[in-house]
Amino acid sequence: MAQQFEDKFHRKFYYLRLSVTDVCNFKCTYCLPDGYKPSGNKNSSFLSLPEIKRIVTAFADCGTNKVRITGGEPSLRRDFPEIIETVANTPGIDKVATTTNGYRMANQVDTWRQAGLTNINVSVDSLDPRMFHQITGENKFHQVMSGIDKAFEVGFEQVKVNVVLMKDLNAGELPAFLHWIKNKPIQLRFIELMQTGEMDELFQKHHVSGVAIRNQLIADGWILKARGVNDGPAQVFVHADYLGEIGLIMPYEKNFCASCNRLRVSALGKLHMCLFGECGVELRDLLQEDSQEQELIARIQAQLANKSVSHFLQDGNSGSTPHLASIGG
Ligand code: SAM
Ligand code: SF4
Repeated sequence: MAQQFEDKFHRKFYYLRLSVTDVCNFKCTYCLPDGYKPSGNKNSSFLSLPEIKRIVTAFADCGTNKVRITGGEPSLRRDFPEIIETVANTPGIDKVATTTNGYRMANQVDTWRQAGLTNINVSVDSLDPRMFHQITGENKFHQVMSGIDKAFEVGFEQVKVNVVLMKDLNAGELPAFLHWIKNKPIQLRFIELMQTGEMDELFQKHHVSGVAIRNQLIADGWILKARGVNDGPAQVFVHADYLGEIGLIMPYEKNFCASCNRLRVSALGKLHMCLFGECGVELRDLLQEDSQEQELIARIQAQLANKSVSHFLQDGNSGSTPHLASIGG
């Protein structure tokens, strides 16, 4: 194995978040409120299967064992099953996850699983179909919920559900969400709304801190679980009376970045050290031949020296990331 990816703060990187498209068919208020707009650059094609294979091989050779395929909406790619298969067949990768809006799940999750998908996150911002429509711009609540049922049917033992909680929209739904997971092996992940370059007013209006939820969970007998090395940044809580679990993702909390274990590659092949704060480093010129692997690894290693200790979101920095669909949330 080549030298493990590690930065100057001794953080080790086991986890790659790979965006395979910027395109999305939903219009979430906090992400793409006006829907997807093509960049206008005709030369900007998304990563091909051979390019994906080379990226994942280089990461795996430096200690990465988990890859999350994200976007935009990753399942809009026609070759999504082949992408999963390519990642799953890379020696060293034992977890292949995706984050999806669930639009194609009911029809395709069986194929994804057969291709080698091991973990699935689906975004469901409300259990009320009308609120779901209002937040996502799509009247697809029942379709997404059937997708979750189907995921269990085809053999996923747990499904993670991402919820961005927003004041005056879905924040009052906590009891309904808790009721939903009482007898279901779902890990609900409440994500604090993050401020991105294209959003300001929405953030001021709807941001709600996870602290109040955490206090309420602890008061109700939920217990914080220990973290595994390639787990995400969620604080996961369990309760004896619930089959489901709750994860809190609180990026504004002090020390959130101390446990960072992931690097990101955008759908156009740029390496991002962080979701926020920089415009990415070109990798594509080194993805054209298998023989370029050592050069590719050297470029990534060199960039690790620049990884910042924190995203500085708490200081109002939203960096150059216009919205999370551009490099995958
Ligand atoms: N389209 C897929 C989906 O929605 O699940 C994958 C991409 S989406 C960018 C990944 C995750 O980021 C979703 O769970 C979404 O809710 C979350 N997200 C997007 N913008 C966000 C923001 N400004 N703050 C917090 N979470 C956000
Ligand atoms: Fe699309 Fe996901 Fe962004 Fe919603 S959060 S607009 S589903 S990329």
